[in-house]
Amino acid sequence: MTSRKFTYEKLEELDELYGEIMLDHYRNPRNCVLLPNADIRTEGGIPLCGDEVTIQITLDGEHHIQDIGFQGQGCSISQASASMMTAVIKGRTLEQVEVLAELVSGMFLGRALSPHDREKLEDLKALRGVRKFPMRIKCALLAWTAVREGINEHRARGAC
Ligand code: ZN
Repeated sequence: MTSRKFTYEKLEELDELYGEIMLDHYRNPRNCVLLPNADIRTEGGIPLCGDEVTIQITLDGEHHIQDIGFQGQGCSISQASASMMTAVIKGRTLEQVEVLAELVSGMFLGRALSPHDREKLEDLKALRGVRKFPMRIKCALLAWTAVREGINEHRARGAC
């Protein structure tokens, strides 16, 4: 629980606007539901913070994300980021999710973003403030890493 308090304070140190978006997702997580009939199930964890995230995705056809649910616990950055991810990728294609995942990790690596990229990222730009805390980048990427693995496993199963 001390880790939660620690990062909660850190969130408030982020850029005012961006910190607010993340705090809102932390306090009111979106899509925090369990989808029993998921086509894709994936999970990830970071022992250092006790972060855990479990994600289910149902597909409409072969590529479209119809619904997404997540459950999790751990530091505020990991949970806020997971909530933001579900809100943004619901209704998208798996291919679009992979593009977004690449943009998000590129943002943390300090890669320059074109105006077009910024537009695509929408609220995910709020995650940018986490760069001030390099140890927490892994937390912000947890849900994205898990979802990428889930997509890869789904393809490897030959389900599409
Ligand atoms: Zn964490």
